[in-house]
Amino acid sequence: MNNDRLVLLGTKGGPSMRSITRMPTSSLLVINGCNCIIDCGLGVARGAVAAGLELTEIDAVFITHLHSDHVLELGPLLHTAWTNGLMKTVRVYGPVGTRTHLDHFLESMRFDIDLRIGDEGRIDLRELIVVSEYGEGTLDYDGCRVSALRVHHPPVTECYGLRFDAEGWSITFSSDTSKFPPLVDFARDSDILVHEAMLAKGVDWVVSRAKNTSRLRQHLFASHTLPDEAAEIARDANVGHLVLHHLVPADCPVVDESDWHAAVAGIWDGEFSVGEDLMEIKRMQR
Ligand SMILES: [Zn+2]
Ligand SMILES: [Zn+2]
Repeated sequence: MNNDRLVLLGTKGGPSMRSITRMPTSSLLVINGCNCIIDCGLGVARGAVAAGLELTEIDAVFITHLHSDHVLELGPLLHTAWTNGLMKTVRVYGPVGTRTHLDHFLESMRFDIDLRIGDEGRIDLRELIVVSEYGEGTLDYDGCRVSALRVHHPPVTECYGLRFDAEGWSITFSSDTSKFPPLVDFARDSDILVHEAMLAKGVDWVVSRAKNTSRLRQHLFASHTLPDEAAEIARDANVGHLVLHHLVPADCPVVDESDWHAAVAGIWDGEFSVGEDLMEIKRMQR
């Protein structure tokens, strides 16, 4: 498909927002002509529009887990697509809890939704959203083959890496995880591996700025992957392009792009990108 592409909409790890250089995690994947949103951190709607997507053309949304930096803007994205004129069904895939999350959002917006149905003659948004809660295995999506792997992101147990396979093109997202060797087989020979990464050098800076959290450092090291570890996964999986995503830290003055490159040097010598918001990678024909 000529227009197939991956666009990183938000590349920051974690839900805090202290600058607008990087927004929390979300991506747009256009594959086989299907417009898929992967994760819905704050800023996803703005990012998708900036990437040139008409929100009414979203076909499916995939949520990897229910941490707020991945799901906070799910409801607002769908509602905004609706007020933009959405008329078709949007499939939403997420782990157990996604349906309840979305039901509560829709209930919280009931006044507005009911008002617009009556006042503006819109189709009921609640009838346009079809939620499928998934676990490990192959997802029932007809746009392309989608597979899910439970990764290691304690204390969250329902957290999944996702792999999208179309004829001649495959993209794997690690989601949030500590280094997880089963990702090697899961991502094997993917054209692109979008892997989360945390640079140890910046963690003290992140922790020093965080308020109202006494265990953030322990959480970060138990639940996330260092860039050299992501590089090992990419190398062992023989992927075509390693893209670091969900960056921690994301806006730290003592960390720059050269630190990420230095961290993978000697392990990964293939195509490499440090994710940036609105970075686009077009589908290459094989
Ligand atoms: Zn996250
Ligand atoms: Zn997470």
